[in-house]
Amino acid sequence: MNVPRRNFLGTLLCVSGAFMYGCQSEPPIQMSMRKGVPLITNYNDSGDPFLIEGKTLLVSITYPSRADGLLGSLPVLIEPESDGGQQREEPQPLSFYPSRDGRILRTILSAPLDVVEGNQRLYLAKSDRPDDKLWDFPYSIRRGNYRSSLLTLDKEFSAPSREVSERTTRDFKNMLVVLKRLSPRQWAKPFVLPVNEGDSGNFGVKRIVNRTKRYRHGGLDFHAEKGTPIYAVNDGIVAFSGEQWVAGKSICIDHGMSVFSKYAHLSQRRVDEGEQVKRGQIIALSGDSGGQKASPHLHLDIFVNGSHVDPKDFMLRTAAQLLTIESEESGHG
Ligand SMILES: [Zn+2]
Repeated sequence: MNVPRRNFLGTLLCVSGAFMYGCQSEPPIQMSMRKGVPLITNYNDSGDPFLIEGKTLLVSITYPSRADGLLGSLPVLIEPESDGGQQREEPQPLSFYPSRDGRILRTILSAPLDVVEGNQRLYLAKSDRPDDKLWDFPYSIRRGNYRSSLLTLDKEFSAPSREVSERTTRDFKNMLVVLKRLSPRQWAKPFVLPVNEGDSGNFGVKRIVNRTKRYRHGGLDFHAEKGTPIYAVNDGIVAFSGEQWVAGKSICIDHGMSVFSKYAHLSQRRVDEGEQVKRGQIIALSGDSGGQKASPHLHLDIFVNGSHVDPKDFMLRTAAQLLTIESEESGHG
């Protein structure tokens, strides 16, 4: 975070804190808030309301009074790169991280891969009572800058048999059920990387497999020899531990508030569904399992609000921003 933004953040926290604890360091300023309408702060470098394909954005919603029971969603339009994909609108329900005094609600917006560029509106409601006032705020959605790559994989991957197609459809549907779970927040510390190795920087890459099948690479690949210990990226509950056709032996951890991490192509799984895991705990060994029959590596997916997002962008930037704000806030208290 650069210096001007930190100052801005300090001012914002002071303004909100002034009612509760008084504000010593900054002169009081008038909050530019229309009566009864929440103030939205976007943690883009420019502060502008936009989202980039595959990225996450921390947003603060400052309320004139306590903000119990706020609900929200950001509907996004998706046109999948994958073959046969249809354009569809996906409402992304929001999870809220309240400030200590309950007057600021923070949320993480996510724009899935293959999102259609354009203008959308973020919807907020005081509660789900139909007569409660609804606010909406404009957001522009922009395409990301992702490269294309040609890849040669096992033929079963580009021209799957009926059996494989049915299997991958079943795996996909099972994952949708897992990702719809809504658990309380499990993490209070910064995310860590799943291995001590480098990555291929290949999140979001547009892949053309065997010159026919097109799809987006929704995760990030890390270099990992077979048998490399894999660490949980943060605290959570194991939501899936099993075998899938593409992902092979794989594990998915629910970190709460619609944040999930998934680890694929493992050679050994060391945790079971329902188990509580700690950040940095060895949950598996890496490998080359799965129908891709690629060389050994770790494929890491991060899902926020049901969408694949850039793992490093979320873990090292957006989640870290939220933790920094929260720790500055507890310093004020
Ligand atoms: Zn991968």
